[in-house]
Amino acid sequence: MFRLSQFMRELLHPTPLKPVRKPVAPVVIWNLIRRCNLTCKHCYTTSADINFPGELSTEAIYSVMDDLKAFKVPVLILSGGEPLLHPDIFAISQRAKDMGFYVALSTNGTLITVENIQQIAAINYPYVGVSLDGIGATHDQFRQQQGSFDASVHGIQLCREQGIKAGIRFTLTQDNAHDFPAMLQLMDDKDIDKFYLSHLNYGGRGNKNRQSDAFFSMTREAMDLLFEQCLQWEQQGIQREVVTGNNDADAVYFLHWVKQNYPEQAAHIQTKLEQWGGNASGVNVANIDNLGNVHPDTFWWHYDLGNVQHRPFSEIWQDISDPLMAGLKQSPRPLKGRCARCSYQKICNGNTRVRAQQIYADPWAEDPGCYLSETEI
Ligand code: SF4
Repeated sequence: MFRLSQFMRELLHPTPLKPVRKPVAPVVIWNLIRRCNLTCKHCYTTSADINFPGELSTEAIYSVMDDLKAFKVPVLILSGGEPLLHPDIFAISQRAKDMGFYVALSTNGTLITVENIQQIAAINYPYVGVSLDGIGATHDQFRQQQGSFDASVHGIQLCREQGIKAGIRFTLTQDNAHDFPAMLQLMDDKDIDKFYLSHLNYGGRGNKNRQSDAFFSMTREAMDLLFEQCLQWEQQGIQREVVTGNNDADAVYFLHWVKQNYPEQAAHIQTKLEQWGGNASGVNVANIDNLGNVHPDTFWWHYDLGNVQHRPFSEIWQDISDPLMAGLKQSPRPLKGRCARCSYQKICNGNTRVRAQQIYADPWAEDPGCYLSETEI
């Protein structure tokens, strides 16, 4: 995850370089349940409103949680399906909070209502993230449910009224890019705390002209707008968090933007970006699915590293006999193609390996989702 607003702040108010502390254990995104009240078009868990067999019991979830704590996992992002459909979501969240985890809730927002908002507030989640795919009908079409946009925005509002930090997660596609400016406006209109621009895991084949490809031009335009908006918020003293995900080339694109607009700060920002280090799948980000299978991140559901019902997470995570985990943890990663010859590997770390694996059947091939031109790399 690229924390744009943090780097924008760094640009306006530079801070001295400090040694980087490497996290001991990863942030864990945990899909507690696959059931969902919606059937979104781009759902990576292919959820539905049915019970899925073989899911971890609440007792099993608790013992995994004990292992995660002993392993020093700092953050749990409770997700689904729709996590609010888990019958024990509040008990699980409370236990995690009591154990000292930072516990965020990742929801579609439609089930946050006046009936349960007090329970949600009582947990004191430091962050509730709600996915929105556009404004009104655009969102409803993606989510395949009329009225879901209004329900989700209402959920965000209820959180805000209770003083819970809430944010939007927007996945950019060719079908909703036209709503992107309006999404940023919604941030202002509803005074929302955080904006997460998630890139679609673009599956187009490589060897294309990146400057003329419609998907890449759209991404670049969206990023330009996001930079400008983030800068404006920072200059106005509005503390709004802006992050991007699923395309670490964003950080390199940002560096080029800095070079063009604030050339005197470019060297400082470049060093800070290198300290951050780019893609962290399999290193600082982990995923546990509803059945207990561990994956390098949420887009690797087709690749199991082991199951927490048979082996502790801490052991699975450190086992580099798995070739994918060995490569992800290697520094620099064994990259090929344009990623191998890229001058900004230290910033991007080869981006999203699952795209390379899906398109070229090789997780170390170049990332086909990199929207930077040859000159820019
Ligand atoms: S070429 Fe590869 S390493 Fe370089 S910015 Fe693009 S995705 Fe990242």
